[in-house]
Amino acid sequence: MRLIDKIDEMKSLVKEVRGQKKTIGFVPTMGCFHAGHRALIREAKTKTDFVVASIFVNPLQFGVGEDYEEYPRDLSRDLALAEQAGVAAVFAPPVEEMYPRGYATFVEVEKLTARLCGSSRPGHFRGVTTVVAKLFNIVQPDLAFLGQKDAQQAVVLQKMVADLDMNLQIEIVPTVREKDGLAMSSRNSYLDPEERRAAPVLFRSLTAAKKLIESGTRDTELLKEEITRLIRQEPLAGIDYVEILALPDLAGTAYLQGRNLIAVAVFIGRTRLIDNIVVEG
Ligand code: AMP
Repeated sequence: MRLIDKIDEMKSLVKEVRGQKKTIGFVPTMGCFHAGHRALIREAKTKTDFVVASIFVNPLQFGVGEDYEEYPRDLSRDLALAEQAGVAAVFAPPVEEMYPRGYATFVEVEKLTARLCGSSRPGHFRGVTTVVAKLFNIVQPDLAFLGQKDAQQAVVLQKMVADLDMNLQIEIVPTVREKDGLAMSSRNSYLDPEERRAAPVLFRSLTAAKKLIESGTRDTELLKEEITRLIRQEPLAGIDYVEILALPDLAGTAYLQGRNLIAVAVFIGRTRLIDNIVVEG
């Protein structure tokens, strides 16, 4: 497995691989690998010839007072896991390589970023779309693999690829969960044992909403109320948002119709966790 930290070197490897007529699969990450990342890599391995994973904790997508400094980093462990999983190359550039002095260009997707994490974390998606656009230009993948866990991110990046006529397709991989339903996340490592016991409340509330839908409820206000009620039963939980939005436009809807995203963001202690499910109305 190759470890690359320079953009030029990554580009020449891509040229070489393209010359061999191999397809390139790309898994962008912030590292600290868990089973969610491994599922993306596995999917990339089955669908493409040469898998590139990037590891880059992108300062641009963290707001003031967020966890950029504390974000868990463990490159040597990640490299071992990537190699085991069959990644052909890891691209792990330093910040100055991606944003040298005088860097001035940003990519912004409007409308889809107005709600959910876009309104709770101003500037977050501008950081995500900017770094991913750069990574797509550098790696030139045929397919890029993203997790359903970050549903809005996936919708926003699909829109960016379509609007900017980028030459790749995005594949969405289902959310990988712990046994008790908690979605795998690098941020779960912030939870103390008591908070860890409280954290499955996100998925539990989503599962309860799904059951209500299966028994005929279509009123999204009622569904949001029930999710909110269940989360409030957990004393360590503080709600950031509970939302039900139509896919793929992320428009508000009074009654479920077609495909809808039910998304929650909840502070467990000081750790902000997100989760979602997709339901058919
Ligand atoms: P991150 O390193 O957290 O930025 O995540 C890198 C990629 O892994 C993103 O496409 C995420 O959506 C995806 N991902 C993170 N957690 C999970 C999970 N539990 N299941 C599936 N994909 C995930």
